[in-house]
Amino acid sequence: MYRVRLWSVRHSRGLNAFYKGFERAMIALAPLWRAIGYQRAEKPVAAFEKRVKGLLFDCKMCGQCVLSSTGMSCPMNCPKQLRNGPCGGVSLEGYCEVKPEMRCVWAEAWRGAGQFDGGLAAIQVVQAPVDRRMEGSSSWLRVVREKTGEPDPNAKKLAAVPAKAAAAPKKEGTP
Ligand code: SF4
Repeated sequence: MYRVRLWSVRHSRGLNAFYKGFERAMIALAPLWRAIGYQRAEKPVAAFEKRVKGLLFDCKMCGQCVLSSTGMSCPMNCPKQLRNGPCGGVSLEGYCEVKPEMRCVWAEAWRGAGQFDGGLAAIQVVQAPVDRRMEGSSSWLRVVREKTGEPDPNAKKLAAVPAKAAAAPKKEGTP
């Protein structure tokens, strides 16, 4: 919901702090995820993540969450889905050229990033192009796996892409 999304950016500092604590709790629960099995946990955790983040951020479940680097403004709500800053069409007042009634997600991201320590440094880190094969998967569990050195259950699927296709760089939306 658009208004809730704007609220989340206004409260980026508190939400970022909450997320840091939540991430620590998710990592502390790693033995539980391992016992359940990451593949078995994936569906219910992703469904819960979709509900929570859908409400707060209009999350599109890209599977590679960057909210902490974008001031709690989800870049997938940009009609061009730009992951590294606004296009040249953003108005002087900070509105989108494709949806003129909508604030540019990157203008919002800059605003949100300025509200918490490290936000303005994080927003300047260049993000990798989004990997569409991870759409719908849980970013929360992916972070736990990355930080605890668990193998990615999707690795087989990702490795199954023909070498040619894997080598071709994915294009972000054009400005
Ligand atoms: S960056 Fe991806 S996972 Fe994070 S809120 Fe946006 S669509 Fe959802």
